[in-house]
Amino acid sequence: MDFDLDDHIRMALKAGEMNLKAMDILDQANTEHFGDPEPTEVPTGTVKGPGILVTGHDLLDLEELLKQTEGTGVNVYTHGEMLPAHGYPELKKYGHLVGNYGGAWQRQKKEFDEFGGAILATTNCVLIPSDGYRDRLFTTGIAAVEGVRHIDDRRDFSPIIEKALELGDLPDAPGRPLVTGFHHKAVLGLADKVVQAVKDGRIRRFFLIGGCDGARSGRSYYTELAEKVPDDCVILTLGCGKYRFNHMDFGDIDGIPRLLDMGQCNNAYSAIQVAVALAEAFDCGVNDLPLSIVLSWFEQKAVAILLTLLHLGVRNIRIGPTPPAFITPNVLRVLQDNYNLMLTGDVDEDLEAMLRGE
Ligand code: SF4
Repeated sequence: MDFDLDDHIRMALKAGEMNLKAMDILDQANTEHFGDPEPTEVPTGTVKGPGILVTGHDLLDLEELLKQTEGTGVNVYTHGEMLPAHGYPELKKYGHLVGNYGGAWQRQKKEFDEFGGAILATTNCVLIPSDGYRDRLFTTGIAAVEGVRHIDDRRDFSPIIEKALELGDLPDAPGRPLVTGFHHKAVLGLADKVVQAVKDGRIRRFFLIGGCDGARSGRSYYTELAEKVPDDCVILTLGCGKYRFNHMDFGDIDGIPRLLDMGQCNNAYSAIQVAVALAEAFDCGVNDLPLSIVLSWFEQKAVAILLTLLHLGVRNIRIGPTPPAFITPNVLRVLQDNYNLMLTGDVDEDLEAMLRGE
């Protein structure tokens, strides 16, 4: 069978449509099981006592570990994409879910080495460990690394709990708290306030800055961009790209926080729901909203999210800091012609263009 360019585009957009459905189903599964996330301040650093650090995306693994560690004296910490777990009522109710430690996946070798307790890697984005923490690292679910102990689907976490107890107390070393839990239901709870603030000119523009993070220095683009977004603009974020700037104090606009962490990469679904609701409130299309989308790119989940946004007909998206491997000159031309997809460039020039609505 021969495929032409249009067939390939149709198939790519179909994949985006399927990803939207998958994110919708996952959102329903998470909210039905764990409740609707609510804005939550999350301590960072460590507290005195034995600890287990959980990284990855799988909230069921985290829940099971919380159940099994209850009453053992072992504290549980989130790492990377597990941060949004703190917003879910059925997870935050566990008093020994004590906080978040570290940043995005690419810093894990340094951070896991420094974290003195046991570590559980769920789902993807786990790196080959150094000898400094190999014997303290456990994997589960679809995550597996050669030479590292794997806990099977029955989720019996007793080996990692024993390891944490054997390793002993972590120091009392608190850091600066973070805020997460701005699921679309929480943001839409503020919808009247937000719409009025836009109408009054107190909110000029929304920036969706997020996606997958990576190690290259060019990713400081996202930190610089977030820093330079004017004070009358709101930043929506998701995925581990947020660790580039979520430690900064962005303040609020008349009680509306200027930085809204919507959750994991899969919570791009929440960002889409917010954009659709705002478009309805302003009686316009999503492309006519005062909204700029800048995706941080690492060939992972961000691929599916980009295809979903294209399936929804969203234009003027910027991606960077480097072009995805599949962007040949031909593909880029098609995406530019049809969606005005852009690669990130100079922060100041991009920001000026976005503030002009380009
Ligand atoms: S947001 Fe992307 S890079 Fe980050 S942990 Fe999730 S899949 Fe990995």
